[in-house]
Parts: sequence; structure tokens; C-alpha cells
Amino acid sequence: MAHNSTNNKQIFNKARVELHLHLDGAIKPETILYFGKKRGIRLPADTVEGLMSYIGYDEPRSLTRFLELFNYYMPAIAGDREALKRIAYELVQMKAREGIIYFEARYSPHLFANSNVIPIPWNQNPGDLTPDEVVHLINQGFQEGEKDFKIKARSILCCMRHMPEWSAEVVRLCKKYHNEGVVGIDLAGDESLNCGTKSGHCKAYEEAFKSGIHRTVHAGEVGPPSVVKEAVDVLKAERIGHGYHTIEDPCLYKRLLKLNIHFEVCPWSSYLTGACDPDLTKHPSIRFREDEANYSLNSDDPLIFKSTLNKDYYVASKYMGFTEDDFIKVNLNAASSCFLPDKEKEELLSTLYDAYGMVQSTVC
Ligand SMILES: [Zn+2]
Repeated sequence: MAHNSTNNKQIFNKARVELHLHLDGAIKPETILYFGKKRGIRLPADTVEGLMSYIGYDEPRSLTRFLELFNYYMPAIAGDREALKRIAYELVQMKAREGIIYFEARYSPHLFANSNVIPIPWNQNPGDLTPDEVVHLINQGFQEGEKDFKIKARSILCCMRHMPEWSAEVVRLCKKYHNEGVVGIDLAGDESLNCGTKSGHCKAYEEAFKSGIHRTVHAGEVGPPSVVKEAVDVLKAERIGHGYHTIEDPCLYKRLLKLNIHFEVCPWSSYLTGACDPDLTKHPSIRFREDEANYSLNSDDPLIFKSTLNKDYYVASKYMGFTEDDFIKVNLNAASSCFLPDKEKEELLSTLYDAYGMVQSTVC
């Protein structure tokens, strides 16, 4: 499919909100090269084009092969204080340029650390950067970015499905940094690894629920509806990352519509990871729109998918028939289901209503 020629054409030139975005999948290639060189860490190439030929792609491949790509560049960033602050700061700049006024970016604190983490990721040597300090540094980068680019950035901390041992620390950090911009918890990674009711993930989500920490879970992206069911019923997720395969279980889907569970849809990502039918005119978001489900459009990992949020809007417009009104609805959905405290959420919604020239009386 020839998507690239029109990649830069701006679709929906109004204020936007993005809820599903991975910090480690949204780094500038220039920054990876800079830190690779500075730290003497070998990368597969030393130019942006060369590096992108390894880590970016535009034709579908499996989710497992997608996950392997992080191995190429994460060693240049993980374990470095300056790099972490800088990628957070630059993400705010990137998103401000895309017309986004509020976003929530997610990451695993453990995957950026080289101390107090077993095993140490990315074949790093042991160091002194703990998951706790990772969160503090990224918060600082976001806060500096917010000041300079006048938009709002918050973060969600990820548990990793293959590492239930890390999850207690993840929820602890969510609580500790609640007032420093951390608004929720996520569960990411290989969906075929079930939680089990006594797993570290379940305990962490139970603690999050008790402590008023908001919850989202990657589920039903490539996995079956049962993973979505577990996310909602066991982990008490308020939002589902992707959730495309929910519609294969009509009973569950109906229940989730009633519960107003939010689906964080990532159209271009789902094409490239093979999560959905490669024919984008059959994408689950068309069904979500028809059923007036609560869902949003998001970019997921724009570094690897060589995209911006505009690419997702472009795909939705060209292949799924999304109109200006649909995009307005999608952004209002995102604002309504964001993890900000109520008062800030109301402010965000008001800003959007103003930007769209709408009267706010219908907000509930
Ligand atoms: Zn994701």
C-alpha cells in the first residue's frame, strides 16, 4: 500500500489527545545516534537513514519480530540519566508539533534501568540507575517540556507480562510519583502469558485499584477475547490497549460497551504488527465507530512505525471513512477517559469544546 506519499498531509487540523504511546517507541533516531556515539555503544548504523533501515518498517510483520527491534537501540538510551531526561523532553516537543494538547506516554521503568533490576535488560553492565530514579528523571523531562511547549504530558508505568517479579515495584512507583505526573499502570508484552490470579501482576493491579491508581492493560491486540475479559474482570482495567479481538466474543463486547470501557485503538500499528486483517477497510475501529464504542486513535510506537499520529488519522480517513465529526468524537472520548484527576479532565474537555467551537452543555 502506498501510504507514504500522503503521510504529511494534515488530517484534522485541530487540538488532539493521545492516550496510547510508548516512550521507548517514540525516540528521535538522532538522539539514539548521539547517545550511542557519546557512550561508545555499538549501533547497527551511524546515520539516521541507516539506523531507520534496521529499526523502522512499513510492511506487516509479527508482533514478536516487532519486539525484537528494541534490542537494536535501547542499549544506547537505557542506563543513562541525560538520555532519559532528553527523550522525555523531546517527546513533549514532538507531540506539541502534532497539535496534541494532552498525552499519556507509557514505559517500563525497569527496561530503562541498570540497577535494582533482575535481570539487567539489554545486556547492560550493572550500574547505579534504579527504576525509581528512572521515573523521577522522566518526570523531570516531561515537566521541562511542558513549560517550553505549553502542552500537558503525563505518564503510565508498565508492568511486563514476562516479568511478574517487577510488578510490585511498578505499583509502588505509581503511588510514590502520583503527584509528579504518573497517572496510571499498564501491562504490556506477550499476551500469551496469562496472569493467573495469584501472579505479581494481579497483586499489583489489586493494589492499584485500592490506591486509586488508574488502570489500562494491553489485551486483545493479537490475543483472544479471554485476555480482554481477564483484564476487565480480574485486573479491573478501565481502558484496554488495542482490544481489537474483543468483538469476536459478542457477549463480552456487549458487556464492555455497557461498561463504557475505553479502547485505545492504534490503526497503523495494528496493520504493521499483523494484529488485524491487513485490509484496513475491515478494521475493528469501523465497528467501534458504528456501535458508538468508547475508543480513541493513537500512534503506539511512532519511531518503529516511521509515523506520527497524523498517519493514524490519515489511515482512518482514507480506509475507514472517518469524517471530521468522527475525529472530534474520538478526541472527546480520549479526554473523557484520560487518567487526569476530575478537575483537570474537565478543563481538558472544556479546551477541546472551545477548540471545536462546541457548546459544553452535553458533557456528562
Ligand atoms: Zn502499546
